[in-house]
Amino acid sequence: MAKTYEELEKNHPCFGGCKFNAGRIHLPVSPGCNIACRFCDRTINDVEQRPGVTSKIITPDEANTFIDKALEFVPNIKVAGIAGPGDTLATDYAFETFKKIGESHPELLKCMSTNGLLLYERADELIEIGIDTLTVTVNAVDPAIEAKLNEYVIWHGEKIYGEEGAKILIENQLKGIKKVADAGVTVKINTVLVPGINDEHIATIAKTVRELGAIIYNIIPLIPQHQLKDIPKPTCEQIEKARSDAEQYIKVFRHCAHCRADAVGVPGVSEYSKLVYQSRLNVR
Ligand code: SF4
Ligand code: SF4
Repeated sequence: MAKTYEELEKNHPCFGGCKFNAGRIHLPVSPGCNIACRFCDRTINDVEQRPGVTSKIITPDEANTFIDKALEFVPNIKVAGIAGPGDTLATDYAFETFKKIGESHPELLKCMSTNGLLLYERADELIEIGIDTLTVTVNAVDPAIEAKLNEYVIWHGEKIYGEEGAKILIENQLKGIKKVADAGVTVKINTVLVPGINDEHIATIAKTVRELGAIIYNIIPLIPQHQLKDIPKPTCEQIEKARSDAEQYIKVFRHCAHCRADAVGVPGVSEYSKLVYQSRLNVR
């Protein structure tokens, strides 16, 4: 049975648990992706502090070893999360990992994030595996806007470009959000704020996802890279405006630390990913 929002507020650092010093471990088990965001730059390195970056990809079989290692440094880890570095539903690795964690560490909240392309068709599996919190990145609910942010989707083996691909992505995100929210899973929405493309669209996204059952909304400022490298990153004023546009409709989360896909610790407070994932002692 999925946790209530009140339970999450005490135990999940991204739902208020930070003030209780709750920690999380991200397990970088999902390398591939099935869409092509124009700002995405997935990479393996030890230094950059942003989503899409990890020092290594691990296998579902290694997940419990890394959790045990992380608990030595951060005993108050309450959440096992999977946030890439690619999409969690594009492969089966996230599902396999959550099955193994559920057996060895049933006390940990299961948290994952996805672009949502396969959310509707894999929602039943997610619900069955006992996911507690799900984050879906929704950058637009209008295909004309989404096509400026995403080049193509790979939909059942076929690469579909532009607005046609964007339409498939949005339809599946929205149907999927409703399905998992109706099952009692707490749904958070991330939107990458891209000035000049979706900054006037935030209120529409927030209203749409709230009506479908999402509980909380997080604005992620664009990091200008890849095809959108020439767009300036949003100013503080633009971020604040986007948050207040969204807040008319949905609770807004303001403390996101834009973590790596292998982050370990309390977001914004402590970071142990190097010790956990880069130590030669960590895999038997
Ligand atoms: Fe990159 Fe995530 Fe977009 Fe996939 S969904 S292309 S991993 S930003
Ligand atoms: Fe929480 Fe944001 Fe870090 Fe995800 S990226 S674990 S939402 S603080």
